[in-house]
Amino acid sequence: MSEFVAIAIDGPSGAGKSTIAKRLAATLGFVYVDTGAMYRTVGLATLRRGIKSEDTAAVIAALSDIDVSIAYVDGAQRVFLNGEDVSDQIRTPEVSMAASTTSAIPEVRKFLFETQQKLARENNVIMDGRDIGTVVLPNAKVKIFLSASVEDRARRRYDELKEKGMDVSFEDVLEDMKQRDYNDSHRDVAPLKPADDAVPVDTTGNTLEESVALLESIVKERL
Ligand code: C5P
Repeated sequence: MSEFVAIAIDGPSGAGKSTIAKRLAATLGFVYVDTGAMYRTVGLATLRRGIKSEDTAAVIAALSDIDVSIAYVDGAQRVFLNGEDVSDQIRTPEVSMAASTTSAIPEVRKFLFETQQKLARENNVIMDGRDIGTVVLPNAKVKIFLSASVEDRARRRYDELKEKGMDVSFEDVLEDMKQRDYNDSHRDVAPLKPADDAVPVDTTGNTLEESVALLESIVKERL
C-alpha cells in the first residue's frame, strides 16, 4: 500500500476539472497532475511530424522518439516534449482533436500510464483525466466524476479560447466538444465512464466558486 493519498477527478472536457483540481491541490498541499496535458503533448508531437492522428501505425512508431515529462514551476504543472516546454502550444483546438484521436490507441495509453502511476507512488496527488478512477488509480481514496451540460462546457471552453485571443466560433467549439465526448466515451480502451465508487457531481449553472466549495467539502469529508 502506498503511503500517499490520491484523489481522482474524471469527466468530459470543459466540466471544470483542471481549474477546480488546481485549486483543491493548492488548498490541500497536493501535487496536481493534468493527464490531459500528457495526451495533448503526444497529439502535438504527431501533428508536428505531419502524422495523421488516424494513422495508428505511424503514431505508434513515433512514440519511440517522443519523451513526455512534467515538472512543476512555481507550483504550476508544465509539460515537456523532448525537453521543450509545450504547455502553451498544446491548448489549441487542433491539438485537442489530435489528443482525442490518438488517446484511443492502447499503446499511447500504455506509454503514459507508467508516468502517471509513478507520480502517484511518489506524491499526494489530485489527478484529473478520463480514466483515473477506473484504470490509472483504481485505489484512489476519493473519486469524483465531474460533469455539466455540453452547452455549458462548450461555453466555458469558448470563453477561455477567446480570452487567449483565438479566433473561434461557438458553434465550432460546441461541435468539437460533442465529437470529443463521443470519441472519449465510445473507445474500446479506458472509455470515459464513472468508476462504480465515484461521487457524481454536475456543475451545470454553478459558478467556479460554488463548484470548488462543493468538491472541497466532498474531499474533506472522505480524507
Ligand atoms: O482533459 P483534456 O481536454 O486536456 O484532454 C485532452 C484529450 O486527452 C481528451 O479529449 C481525451 O481524449 C484524452 N484524455 C484521455 N485520458 C485522460 C486524459 C485525457 O484519453 N486521462
